[in-house]
Amino acid sequence: MHATETLNEADRLMVVCNSCRYCEGLCAVFPAMEMRRAFTSGDLRYFANLCHGCGACYDDCQFSPPHEFNVNVPKVMAQLRLESYAHYAWPGACAGLFQRNGLVIALIAALSVAVFIAGFVAWSDPGALFAVHTGPGAFYRLMPHNTMVAIFGAAFLYACIAIVMGLRAFWRDGGEAAGRDFAQAGHETATLKYLDGGGAGCRDSDTKAPDNRRLYHHLTFYGFLLCFASTSVATLYHYLLGMQAPYAWTDLPVVLGTLGGIGLLIGPVGLLAEKGKRDPLTQDSSLWGMDVAFLAMLFLTSLTGLALLGLRSTPAMGLLLAIHLGVVFGLFVTMPYGKFVHGLYRYAALARYSRERRTQTD
Ligand code: SF4
Ligand code: SF4
Repeated sequence: MHATETLNEADRLMVVCNSCRYCEGLCAVFPAMEMRRAFTSGDLRYFANLCHGCGACYDDCQFSPPHEFNVNVPKVMAQLRLESYAHYAWPGACAGLFQRNGLVIALIAALSVAVFIAGFVAWSDPGALFAVHTGPGAFYRLMPHNTMVAIFGAAFLYACIAIVMGLRAFWRDGGEAAGRDFAQAGHETATLKYLDGGGAGCRDSDTKAPDNRRLYHHLTFYGFLLCFASTSVATLYHYLLGMQAPYAWTDLPVVLGTLGGIGLLIGPVGLLAEKGKRDPLTQDSSLWGMDVAFLAMLFLTSLTGLALLGLRSTPAMGLLLAIHLGVVFGLFVTMPYGKFVHGLYRYAALARYSRERRTQTD
């Protein structure tokens, strides 16, 4: 017996699947399962984080509902993934943030925006918020650069610590890997190898529903990385070259941020649209809030950033800067307690899978 009903149900399904093994060619979940005869709670959470929820094994399963075995691997794995995020959350008192996640993130984002607007007005005056500020250092007439660095540095540091602590707990449940396993997992994460069940599997091109999830996921993932690179390069410009934002359209931070921003506009919308097309029987509607909130935060981060870029020489700059900073702050502080963590847990699960696969064949 495991500690939760979801773990017990996942265990039951894995016992059925381990006897059947029809889906062993589909994705990493089934080969990882076949290496075991019994499943610890840590094993089941590991399988859940290997699963992309593509639905291929549900489509192929002869035991899916209305069969009495009621095998629905994608849905149960999705429920268990959410449960695992809360289980490994740091600090443990924040585990509840994964419940009603959409509402929590919306409230934190709205509060952050309001605090930044109030802070701008308190630091300068209401008139400055709607005045035209141009030239190097224009943003810092509304908020001192050092204050900005202190606030965002603290939020980013907290997010990193919370995420690392969660990953550490996940890893302690049985993770073990060498450098080449992390490299292999990096390749599989970067290419989303198992997003559609790991290739053709049992779904041939005639029966496979058109799914652009990989394209939109790449746009989102690499868009996020480009925006992060833009901020990092801007920091180097500021401290190493003594160049203050805002930067020219042709400067590297703006080029990277614009390309990343476009990816973050298209990717999240596409992912949401693809999600709406998926078979509802393989989904758990209680997870929608978390998925939508994360995609909405990424979309808003990009939209407000690009709007700020386009209107930075107009009276709208002050308000747009406050909104953009508020959204980015909200994104940072909620990152350890939302959908963002799925990529990191999946990466760690793939590294563990790489090691298990390697030690079996060595
Ligand atoms: S999902 Fe169904 S068909 Fe696939 S291995 Fe499990 S029981 Fe067999
Ligand atoms: S990744 Fe797809 S095929 Fe593999 S377990 Fe999850 S839903 Fe099934």
